[in-house]
Amino acid sequence: MKEKLSTKLIHTGDWQDYKKYQGYSSAPESLPIYLTSVFAFDDVPSVDQIYDGEAEGYIYTRIRHPNTDAVGGMLAAAENGEEGLVFSSGMSAITLSILSVVSAGDHIVSSPVLYGGVHDFLANELKRFGVEVTFVDFINGDVEGAIRPNTKLLYTETICNPLLEVPDIGRISELARKHGCYFFIDNTFATSVIVKPLELGADLVLYSATKYLGGHSDIVAGAAVGGKDLIARIRQKIVLYGAILSPAEAWLLARSLRTLELRVTRHSENALKVAQFLESHPKIEKVFYPGLVSSPDHERAKAQFTEGLFGGMLSVNLKGGEKEASTVIASMPTIKFVPSLAGYATTVSYSAKTSHRFYSPEELKAAGITFGQLRFSIGLEDAGDIIAELDAALERI
Ligand SMILES: *Cc1c(COP(=O)(O)O)cnc(C)c1O
Repeated sequence: MKEKLSTKLIHTGDWQDYKKYQGYSSAPESLPIYLTSVFAFDDVPSVDQIYDGEAEGYIYTRIRHPNTDAVGGMLAAAENGEEGLVFSSGMSAITLSILSVVSAGDHIVSSPVLYGGVHDFLANELKRFGVEVTFVDFINGDVEGAIRPNTKLLYTETICNPLLEVPDIGRISELARKHGCYFFIDNTFATSVIVKPLELGADLVLYSATKYLGGHSDIVAGAAVGGKDLIARIRQKIVLYGAILSPAEAWLLARSLRTLELRVTRHSENALKVAQFLESHPKIEKVFYPGLVSSPDHERAKAQFTEGLFGGMLSVNLKGGEKEASTVIASMPTIKFVPSLAGYATTVSYSAKTSHRFYSPEELKAAGITFGQLRFSIGLEDAGDIIAELDAALERI
């Protein structure tokens, strides 16, 4: 497959893949939504053939259905992976993928800078299952030194929240291979448009598809892409725990993926312009964005993000604290205060009061989070308009 990602996302996931089951000579251009909880069989031999894997067919929507298969195929094509799965949320994608490779007595090495829910799962929930987790800085820390004979998994994010740090995916992949463990990576902030971690040696790419893959702030969904055998194990967990995505939401996700490359390119181009503007603004102390030449992560990011795009997320430290942050948030007419990210509109979040609200002062300090820090999800508006609105809001402090 020599086609580029944008072409693949246009020419996969449509009805043509399913026409063979219908016996018709024409087909809808867009895959319909299969709103059915179950499928009817012609006879007993047909059900035998499907269960035995001798014939293609669907059984029950919690197991698999045409809309999730369509999106899974699109995502596998986009990542240059073997197979893709979609889930009811990013959290179910991540937790069930991890549960499919660890058992009591196993050990995980993870970055400490993670989406809050995933951190909670690793730090607290897995203890109940007898799985130990060591947190170590994946950029400057000794990851190899933390690996034990019972380590089954290395886990990190491609672009870490909220300071947008970028670990070296190839180096971590090598460590995983050397020590015989899996390497899973949450690629939510970057997407396959910016980097395809499977090509750099990761075993599994995970997503909150609620974010850029969905991109319109209208669905909650998750995804995983990887090799056939690993995906087969994870699929069993989706069925067992009941975490499949509904047909209607899977259809919306497929529709969103058609424009993923256009959107992520525009998000990234806009974010770079905004980051450059903010970097020279007198009311701003520091800008965190891996696309800035001044970023300590820039060289590492540039080496891996070969399209020259660095994503739509950036954070800033204002000169000031909570009072100044509140003023800026309240002074922006279209940039809404939204504790999520990656929709089509520019939004702002305040980590110290939302995602990291329950961190102690010491934990906040260790994570580099302050009360003067805002995180922006840069949208698809005209970059000049975003900059003008930010400039006017910063004037108020
Ligand atoms: C939002 C998010 C998640 C969790 O996904 P949900 O779709 O909210 O369940 C996981 N990882 C990252 C990086 C996220 O931003």
